[in-house]
Amino acid sequence: MADRHVAHLLIGGGLASASCARWLREGGASGDILLVGREPDLPYERPPLSKEYLSGAGSREDALWRPASWYDEQRIEVLQRTSVMKLNTEEQVATLSTKETVSFDTALVATGANVRRLPVDGAQLEGISYLRAFGNAEQIRAEGAGKRVVLIGGSYIGCEVAATLTGLGAQCTIVMQEDVALSRTFGAEAGRFFQSQLEQHGIAFVAGDALERFEGSGDAVERVVTAAGVTLDADAVVIGAGVAPDVMLARSAGLELDADLGGIACDARLRTSARGIWAAGDIAAYDSVIHGRRIRVEHWDAALQQGKTAARSMLGEDVVHDVVPYFFSDLADWASLEYVGPAREWDREVVRGSYESGEFSTWYVSGGRVAGCLSVGRSDDLDHARRLITAGEALEPADVVRLGDASTDLATIGPAAA
Ligand SMILES: Cc1cc2nc3c(=O)[nH]c(=O)nc-3n(C[C@H](O)[C@H](O)[C@H](O)COP(=O)(O)OP(=O)(O)OC[C@H]3O[C@@H](n4cnc5c(N)ncnc54)[C@H](O)[C@@H]3O)c2cc1C
Repeated sequence: MADRHVAHLLIGGGLASASCARWLREGGASGDILLVGREPDLPYERPPLSKEYLSGAGSREDALWRPASWYDEQRIEVLQRTSVMKLNTEEQVATLSTKETVSFDTALVATGANVRRLPVDGAQLEGISYLRAFGNAEQIRAEGAGKRVVLIGGSYIGCEVAATLTGLGAQCTIVMQEDVALSRTFGAEAGRFFQSQLEQHGIAFVAGDALERFEGSGDAVERVVTAAGVTLDADAVVIGAGVAPDVMLARSAGLELDADLGGIACDARLRTSARGIWAAGDIAAYDSVIHGRRIRVEHWDAALQQGKTAARSMLGEDVVHDVVPYFFSDLADWASLEYVGPAREWDREVVRGSYESGEFSTWYVSGGRVAGCLSVGRSDDLDHARRLITAGEALEPADVVRLGDASTDLATIGPAAA
C-alpha cells in the first residue's frame, strides 16, 4: 500500500512537466496532480539563463514559467527539492526522496538532461562553470563580468554566453572543434554569418581545435591549453559541450531506452514501454510521424508541446505528437535566429534574402525535400517550412530554386496548407 494515491504524477520540475500539468487541467482532469522536482525553484524557463538572467536584466521571478499562485489556482501540488528515487512500473508506485510512496494512475517522466562534463586535467579548478540552472548563471556572471573568459564549445550555449558576457565587459574567446561556430546545426555558410557577428563585437575564436587541459598555480583556473598547443589566459571558463538526457530513474525502472539517441524510447503518442507512463521534453526519444524516424530534441518549445501532447494522450485522446520542432537563439541583440527541423542531413542549402543584408532564411533540402529552415528576420517563412517539412514530399527542382527567390510567394510552392 502506498502512502497516498494521485491521478497524475509528473516526475521532473521543468517545463515539460509544468506544461503537462497545465494541459491536464485544461483537458478536464479532475483528479490530483502532483509535480515532483529536484530543484529548489518552481518550474522556470532556462533560455534566460544564457541571456537576460545572465546579463542581470531579468530576475528569477521573471524566469518562472508561472507564479506560485497559478499552481494553487489550478490545484497542482508541486514538491520542490524532492526527487523520485524509485519507480515501480508494475505496481505504478513511486518512492520519493522524502521516503513517501505515491501510487498513480498515469505518470510522466520528464527528468530532462544534465550537462556533459569534460574530465580533462585541471577540471576541478575554481572558475570553471557549466550552465544549466539559476545558480550556474549567477556564478558565471560573478566570475566572468569584465574578465578574460574562455568558452569551450562553438554551439549555441558558448555563443550566447560569450555574447552576453561581452555586454558585461568580458573579453571572450571561444575554443571549438568545429571550423565555424554553430555550423553543426546550420552549416558552414550560416555559421560564418553568426561567427562574424560575434567577431565584430570583439569575440575571438580558436577553431578546429580541442580542449586539452586547464592549468592554474593555485586553486583557480589561469590558463586553457588546447590540443594544438594554443595557451589562453583565463580568469573564468564556461563549458558548453552539450547535454545528456537524465535517464538514471528511467533505467533503474526498466523503461526501454533508445541506444542511439539516448533518452527514453517512446511511441508517437509519447508513451514509454511501461503501461500508464509517458515521457516528454529533453528526455523523450519518440517516433516522429513528421520525420518518419525516431527523434529527440532539446528545445524549449518542444518541452512545452510534448507536455501538452502527453497530457492529451493521458486523458485518453487519440493523439500523436505531430509538431515540427522549433528552436530559437539570441546572440545578445546582435542576431536572433529561429529554426524548424531538425534536418539530420541535407544535400542543398537554398538562401532566401542574403547573409550580407542580415535578413535571410536558409532552407536545408535533402533529396528535394525540405528538412529544415533557419530564419534571421524572416519568421513568416517558417510557417511555410513547417508545411513543407510536414508534407515530406520532394519538390520539383524548379520549386527548390524558387525557395531562394524572395519575390516568389512561398504559398505557391509544394502542397497547399491543410
Ligand atoms: C542555459 C540554457 C539556455 C537555453 N536556451 C534555449 C533557447 O534559447 N532556445 C531553446 O529552444 N531551448 C533552449 N534551452 C533548452 C531548453 O531550456 C530545454 O530544452 C528545456 O528546459 C527542457 O525542459 P525539460 O522539462 O525537458 O527538462 P529540464 O528543464 O532539464 O527539467 C527537468 C527537471 O527534472 C529534474 N529531475 C531530474 N531527475 C529527477 C527525479 N528523479 N526526480 C525529480 N526531479 C528530477 C531536474 O533536476 C530538472 O529540474 C536552453 C537550455 C539552457 C540550459
